[in-house]
Amino acid sequence: MSAPCPSAVVPAAPTRPLLEVDLAAVGANVRLLAGRTGGGLMAVVKADGFGHGAVDVARTALAHGATWLGVTGLAEALPLRAAGLRAPVLSWLNPVGADWAAAIAADVDVAVPGLEHLAAVAAAPGRARVHLHVDCGMARDGAAPATWSALCAAARRAERRGEVEVVGVMGHLGCAEDPSDACNARGRTRFAWALETARAAGLRPVHRHLASTAATLTDPRTHHTMSRVGAGLVGIDPSGTTALRGALTLTAPVVSVRQVPAGTPVGYGHEHRTARATHLALVPVGYGDGLPRAASGRAEVVVRGRRRPVVGRLSMDQLVVDVGERPVPPGEPVTLLGPGDAGEPTATDWAGWAGTIAHEVVTGLGAATRTGTRLERRVVGAAHLRSLA
Ligand SMILES: *Cc1c(COP(=O)(O)O)cnc(C)c1O
Repeated sequence: MSAPCPSAVVPAAPTRPLLEVDLAAVGANVRLLAGRTGGGLMAVVKADGFGHGAVDVARTALAHGATWLGVTGLAEALPLRAAGLRAPVLSWLNPVGADWAAAIAADVDVAVPGLEHLAAVAAAPGRARVHLHVDCGMARDGAAPATWSALCAAARRAERRGEVEVVGVMGHLGCAEDPSDACNARGRTRFAWALETARAAGLRPVHRHLASTAATLTDPRTHHTMSRVGAGLVGIDPSGTTALRGALTLTAPVVSVRQVPAGTPVGYGHEHRTARATHLALVPVGYGDGLPRAASGRAEVVVRGRRRPVVGRLSMDQLVVDVGERPVPPGEPVTLLGPGDAGEPTATDWAGWAGTIAHEVVTGLGAATRTGTRLERRVVGAAHLRSLA
């Protein structure tokens, strides 16, 4: 007589598309990155922690070796404080009219990229902790080099008046994913010049940070006192040099399966026709859930341990997989993206199919969990956090 199979150990069939966030993977990435930088580690949790959940990623990073948090706008910084995180936080991209008083009240450091920002920050009640931001060759955020001396001098005057405290200088490299690009040497030189200029103006910035993920992993000359790392926390290495672990897994149940003859057109525009008689499985995930539509015609997913092609155009809500000669039952789980352990595509694979970068894929998926009406979000690997709490 065989014992009845206890239903508790049978994995529940997936009932809707699910985005799993593995904080243990984030923790492992943080430990690796913290071991690679010569300075401190600022965990960059902008864009909701690259779609993984800003507070979850921040807590995990702080538990595994990061000592700072970094975000773009103040609207991303203040919720970290509201969640009870006490680590230093830097917010580096704000319009001149931002609520600097709120930043000061919440003990959030702010980056200052020019005289207008300096004046606004200095005028706010309290003494702001400021990181002067120099452009290191992107013509993007940060002070243009021609304005840097004047900014340093003005910041020193504001410091003497007690309006600000210049605790840092920051820059950012535009080509760090390719260490052989001459742009990197020019960026490093620019940053060294910016530090000298700040010192000559009488400033004593104790936090000097230039490197993000790629430079942290490839060029110790960029490390200074701290690295600002975002992509690497969630397993993305733009330099392609280091094995980091992806922290998202996207699965969905098959909705329905049909048998079709050779020559069957599939999806909008009939961009695909089946080459032979086969089975088509419908999966309820599309570009409305953050999968890039541009991956149509190239993407693959894993069904029953095998890679299968996504056929026809991805729709907003659904995609079609050619599962071959043998049908699968409705409800069959499909793995669309994951760390790659079981042969499933990674965020980098999806990015390659779509002509984009993995950053855009993961932030898009994360965004689709926000409303609660598209992807369900589930956090795993957080046991170490509970034990710390
Ligand atoms: C996003 C960002 C970072 C983090 O870069 P990663 O490549 O994701 O590590 C660091 N600094 C600035 C200014 C950024 O905008």
